[in-house]
Formats: sequence, structure tokens, C-alpha cells
Amino acid sequence: MQLTQRQLKQFIYAGLVGDALDVPVEFKPRDSYRIDAMLGFGTYDQPAGSWSDDSSLTLCLMENLTENGSMVTLFDKMLAYMTTGKYTPNHELFDIGNATRRAIFNYSKGVSPLECGDCSEFANGNGAIMRIAPLAIILLTEKDFKKRSTMIREYTILTHAHERSVIGSVIYVELLRELLLGTELTVVLGTLQQRLQLVGFTEVELAKYQCIFDQDFGKLPRAAIKSSGYVIDSLAAAIWCNLVAHDFQEVTLLAVNLGEDTDTVAQLAAMINVSQKLETVIPDQWQQALIIPPEIHTIITDFTEKFGD
Ligand SMILES: [Mg+2]
Repeated sequence: MQLTQRQLKQFIYAGLVGDALDVPVEFKPRDSYRIDAMLGFGTYDQPAGSWSDDSSLTLCLMENLTENGSMVTLFDKMLAYMTTGKYTPNHELFDIGNATRRAIFNYSKGVSPLECGDCSEFANGNGAIMRIAPLAIILLTEKDFKKRSTMIREYTILTHAHERSVIGSVIYVELLRELLLGTELTVVLGTLQQRLQLVGFTEVELAKYQCIFDQDFGKLPRAAIKSSGYVIDSLAAAIWCNLVAHDFQEVTLLAVNLGEDTDTVAQLAAMINVSQKLETVIPDQWQQALIIPPEIHTIITDFTEKFGD
């Protein structure tokens, strides 16, 4: 199965929109603001429609996949992002996570790509999960779960090498892939946990993600959902938004208004939502407000032409 170019474009734009909606309020406490439109300035003083590191690093991966690049060429792109502001809406770097910065720095000093990521338990931010959604497209036709999880692992450990981050990435990409193939969200959540046990993850680390597999997870009140930059919190919050709301706009705004590290939560939530119904129409006013320089448009077009029908 292959997505149409139009569907693939929706998938990509959903993430950009989720990310950009939140840029002005990233790291603000819950209920200290209310977003319902694409606004500018705020946290990073960027104009409306600016998207952040989540999308920049996703674009690096998209371009690298289009070019059949290696982990070395992917790191070269991330290095260009960090040092020159390439892959940004306004040709300016305004946001990068600590673990990602350290990994790129390691690469620039000659460390081999698969050794650059931080394997500390304290390096489990959402910096890897925020950039790997395109893998769900590449892996749509890969039937072997072990092969899929190996590939997801390799792309994750470039920056985040602890098992917890790898599990988070595998859950997220598997979720997107299954949804794109037409499986219902609750059905995916009901079967995924068992599959994770097949590829050698430790029980201790798998147990950290238990909450999202609990049948009543979607019944938890908003107050029980954390939306920090910790990989488990970000992924759980994005899934929760999709369990309690369904419409793209509703899900994305629910995520954006959770507070704290909401650009990533909103990006993940938007991509989970759009994967469930690729005919979803992203509100025109949001999509049109995005800042898409010509070189970014080219990356998106080349990717959709290569991997879409
Ligand atoms: Mg960000």
C-alpha cells in the first residue's frame, strides 16, 4: 500500500501545523493561555506560522530518505540546521534540545553516527520522537516487525540512545504505520504492547509505558495528563488527545492548550490524528499561515513524489 501524494502531503502538513500553532506558547504553564489560531511571537519572538526544531529535524530526515542518504548525510543535515539555520522557516535557529545538540556536536568531532546519542536515563526527552514520523511512510510495506524496530532504533539512537527513547519511537512509528494502514486507534493500542515484547526490550522499560495501554487511559481527566518534554509524557499526552477528541482541529487545540512542551505534543497528536483519516482537511487558515520557504517546499514535494502514488 502506498499513500497518494495528496495524502502524504496532509500527513506532513499536519505535523507542521501542530508544531507551529504552539511555538508562541511553548513552555508556558497549563491554563496560562488559550490558543485557537495561528499566532506569532511569544516564547521565541517568531512570526506567525513559524515551526520549530521538531519540523526542522523531520525535514532533515525527509530529505535524507528522498536522497537515499546514510546516517552520515543525515547528521550533515542536522549539523547544517544547528550551525547555519538551514531547514528553518526564517533561516534562523531558535530552538534545539540539549541531547540533540550534544549528539550533533559529537558527530562534528568525528564520533561515528550510531555512537553519538546520549544513553543516559536522564536523556529521555522528546528530541528523537519529534523527528522520526517519516519512518512510518518508509516502513508501510515492511511486514517484518523486527526489521521495522531495528530501523526505528537506529534512527532514534543517533541522538537518544537510552532504551526508553527507543521504545517511545517504536510505539509512535508503529502506531502511525498501523493507523495509516487503516487499523483503529484502540485496536492498535490493544495489540502493540504484546508485539513490543518480541524484540527484546526489558520488562522494566516496557512497564514505563503501561499507562497508554490501559483500557481506561482515554477516560483519565486532563489533570492526570502530563505534557512535559519527557518522551513518555509527550507521547502519552498526544495519544490521550486522540482518545478524547476526534476532529483534527479539536485534537490539535486540545494538545496545544495542555501547556509546557506543547509544540511536540501537538505535532505528535496532529500526526496521530491525520494518520487515522487521511482525507482530514487541515483548516485552510492554519495551513496557509505556515511559513514555507521555497527550499522547504522542494523537500516536501520531492518526498511526496518519491514515496506517494
Ligand atoms: Mg520544538
